[in-house]
Amino acid sequence: MVLPIVRYGNPILRAKGSPIEKITPQIERLIADMLETMHAVRGVGLAAPQVGHALQLTVVDVTGVTDRPSTLFVEGKPAEIEAFMPLVLINPHVKPVGELVKGPEGCLSFPEIYADIMRPEAAEVKAQNAKGGAISFRCSGLLSRAVQHEIDHLNGILFIDRMEMETRRELKAELEALQAETKAARPQQR
Ligand code: ZN
Repeated sequence: MVLPIVRYGNPILRAKGSPIEKITPQIERLIADMLETMHAVRGVGLAAPQVGHALQLTVVDVTGVTDRPSTLFVEGKPAEIEAFMPLVLINPHVKPVGELVKGPEGCLSFPEIYADIMRPEAAEVKAQNAKGGAISFRCSGLLSRAVQHEIDHLNGILFIDRMEMETRRELKAELEALQAETKAARPQQR
């Protein structure tokens, strides 16, 4: 089932996701729905808070993007990215590594808003997969950027928090309009 995506202005995007203790049938259903939703909207990643669940769960798939390369090392060995996608990350921990690099980002919770964001070039990730098995990998390029962006969501951090002041100032009116629109659409909560 394709799920509605929560937009900026909804407080759940600022919540810290709770760890997932057990992969219940409900969690399995949520993972399947998140994958379906991400693919339906051609997103590179989707985090559980973006579909209304403050949980440590995110999905990523960079296979649709051909002009922004990624590298992947699983257990220290180079691995094929396509074979590793879509990626389901449960209770992930990320250690960003390397130099800060600038790259374009968008977010499904911020329709039509794009900006260059500085992030460390690579990331080391430890998480559980959809079956609860431990996975660990190192990535760079688009995959690293996507994984860092999505794991930020699980901690209530949004890409606007990492924008340069100047960019944020330029987008101020658009961001306020989006926030107001989201709040107006949820009159039951202030
Ligand atoms: Zn996002």
